[in-house]
Amino acid sequence: MKYIFGPVSSKRLGQSLGVDLLPPKSCTWNCVYCQLGKTRKFITERQEFFPREEILEEIRQALSGNNALDWITFVGSGETMLYKGIGWLIGEVKKLTKIPVAVITNGSLLYLPEVRAELLLADAVLPSLNAGSEALHNQIDRPAPGLTFRQHVEGLVTFRREYKGRLWIEVMLLGGINDSDEALYALADVLKEINPDMVHLVLPTRPAPEQEVCLPTDERIERAMTILSSVVTVVHPVKGAMDLRSAPDLLEAVKAIVTRHPVQQRELQKAILDCYPEQSGKADQLMQEMLATGIFKLVDHEGEPYWVLKDESH
Ligand code: SF4
Repeated sequence: MKYIFGPVSSKRLGQSLGVDLLPPKSCTWNCVYCQLGKTRKFITERQEFFPREEILEEIRQALSGNNALDWITFVGSGETMLYKGIGWLIGEVKKLTKIPVAVITNGSLLYLPEVRAELLLADAVLPSLNAGSEALHNQIDRPAPGLTFRQHVEGLVTFRREYKGRLWIEVMLLGGINDSDEALYALADVLKEINPDMVHLVLPTRPAPEQEVCLPTDERIERAMTILSSVVTVVHPVKGAMDLRSAPDLLEAVKAIVTRHPVQQRELQKAILDCYPEQSGKADQLMQEMLATGIFKLVDHEGEPYWVLKDESH
């Protein structure tokens, strides 16, 4: 499969089939915490990067062999809304199945009416908002020239007015960067203006391209929950376990996931053991096969080994 990955498991979306519409890495931002590594070249012009019928055919095939899905999620190698025609794809998927459709986006293009229109049929949209000020937005998200903080916020406010589905904003809490009381109160003010259904507070648990990215302390996480909860419902989703049991080809399934985000070695070993409880050497064998592909490497992050793509800077 070229466009489909997973299913991956998470507390927010349960068992979710990933659909990636982009060539790696295509983004309007260059976030300090990005799990895909640095944005080498900004892309801000929307395109149909791959033929939409080809993508739909893969989704159709993936659905025919999988009944236990909670969501179909458009997410992947950059900013999802750069794909021109995503609205058509969402509409076609909804003709194929009753499984709800989610779109994970940084939200930077929501100021464009045609982008907002393409999202109207989605059941949930999960845009990012990591800062309550232009300065912090520029420090964390490092947008392409021409994309401003105010434009981002106004895109979200307008989208909220037009969109009837679930709007769940994702806030990445970074230790020492956006976890001060001042930054959190500013963020709360902007969230109030947007009025989303919920905020998902997430943490930089995977390797990031910049050294300054670190986990906030438990005290700061609690503080963020308290301050943001005064204006919106906040959840702090715990990451779900990786589930490879329905994968027809283990190596291909793992490759598809690591290509989209770093995977903790421990998590991978556990997922393989769940698939092959009788074969204790299976995890080592798979990791040897991954090394032999020449496209992955192991890196250390906060004392834990992670699998990442070789040519990305982590
Ligand atoms: S985290 Fe998302 S929005 Fe930020 S640079 Fe990476 S892909 Fe783009």
